[in-house]
Order: sequence, then C-alpha cells, then structure tokens
Amino acid sequence: MRVDVVTVFPDYLAPLRLSLIGRAVERGTIDLAVHDLRTHTTDVHRTVDDSPFGGGAGMLMTPPPWGAALDAVRAQGQQSLGADAEPHLLVMSPAGHRFDQATAARLAAEPWLVLACGRYEGIDERVLDDAARRHRVTPLSIGDYVLAGGEAAALVVVEAVGRLLPGVLGNAASVVEESHSDGLLEAPSYTRPATWRDLDVPAVLTGGDHGKVARWRRDESLRRTAERRPDLLAGAPADRFDRRDLEL
Ligand code: SAM
Repeated sequence: MRVDVVTVFPDYLAPLRLSLIGRAVERGTIDLAVHDLRTHTTDVHRTVDDSPFGGGAGMLMTPPPWGAALDAVRAQGQQSLGADAEPHLLVMSPAGHRFDQATAARLAAEPWLVLACGRYEGIDERVLDDAARRHRVTPLSIGDYVLAGGEAAALVVVEAVGRLLPGVLGNAASVVEESHSDGLLEAPSYTRPATWRDLDVPAVLTGGDHGKVARWRRDESLRRTAERRPDLLAGAPADRFDRRDLEL
C-alpha cells in the first residue's frame, strides 16, 4: 500500500518509522512518503493560512498550497503506481465520518491513501471539492473531540490500517480475536505469574478446557461491553448472542 501524508509538521509523523509500522515501511509493505505543505507555498513567509470569509475565530488553511501539494503527490504516486492510479484522499477533521475498525479494514484493502492534516481552524472546503473532481475524498474523524492538528489523527489512521495489512502482524489471529473485530470489546487477558500481589488468574484460564475458556471469554466480552460500551451492544450482529446471554 502507498501512503502519503501532507502536513506542515513532517517531523510529527516520525513515529511511523518505529515499531510495527516502521518495520512494515522498511520491508516495503507500506510505501510511506511524508510531504511538507510549506514546500508548495510561493511567498517568502511560506504562508498556509488566512482569515475566514464571513468572520469567525482563528485562521483557515488557504487552498493554493493544498492544491499544489495534492497535485504533486498525485503525480508522484502515479509515477510509481501507474498513470491510471488514483488516491483516496482522507482529510483529517473532527467534522468527518467516524473512523472505526470497520473503516480501517475497508481502507486496508485500498492501494493508495493520501492523508491531509489540517491545522488552525481546518482547511478551505474547496480543497476537498476540487480533489473530489479527480478521485475519492473522505473527511475522517478519529473521535468526538478536537485536536490541535491532524497529525495525531493521521498517526492513528495509518497505524490502525497498517497493522491490518497482510504480513504486518506476526500472528494474523490477533486481528480476528481483538476488541471491535466482532463489534464487541475483548475479554480481560492475563499472563504469568498465575498469582501476583494476591490476585489470581481466573481458574478457567489455567484449567486446560478450551471449550470453557472460549465460553468464558465470550461471556466476559459481553459483560465488559455492556458495562463500558452499551452503545456497541445495540450495533452487534444478532447471531452474536444466544439465550444464555440474556442472563448476563
Ligand atoms: N474548526 C474545526 C472544526 O470545528 O471542525 C476544528 C479544527 S482543529 C482545531 C484543527 C485540525 O485538527 C483539523 O483541521 C483536523 O485536521 C485536526 N483534527 C482535530 N480534531 C480531529 C479529530 N477528532 N479527528 C481528526 N482530525 C482532527
């Protein structure tokens, strides 16, 4: 997968060179390029913002540098992926569609993502409208809160998508069994020692009965989801439950 990130703070994306995603980049599973938006400014101050039409607080990112940057990124990508390739532009925004595990899985099947990181009060809407004349554009929010910039959101999106790419995780079963893979939260997990500070691992996990372990994990997953995220239970598939679950 090719991933381009456009930002005024390229250094903010340095963690993508570390750990799991860093190894995927080194191996070429993710072809990562981080671009400095200010490279595409034309004035001596390298200006990327201006005051909003109609008034209002703060500054807005102005279209010309964004247009030039996205054109350049598209041209570069097409050189490596082919002239017919088109990116999917993901614009980080608290006003975007909610980014969740299902979205991450859909994006992991795509060949080319371009992530746009806003700053100030965000990006002039025409940048999205113009890009949408050539390829898909999706504003994405990583949660119902407001960050100072899109870089932290881009890190979240690249990591959540990147770890789903084939070969990135050592154990492919991890992504099937974890929180949100089936719409629910994962059951509590334990490792050695079996007793720590007078706290014992639940006996069922050390008993060797795989059927009982699976049932316990399923029950605990439901219990935890009901307690911490009841909103998820409403959206879980009906075949996820049986009559016994009603007693939990
Ligand atoms: N005025 C914008 C609004 O109310 O929708 C908020 C702008 S925010 C201060 C600056 C930038 O941070 C945004 O352009 C976006 O790139 C990023 N950002 C902030 N919160 C985000 C979130 N929850 N998800 C994704 N990006 C976010």
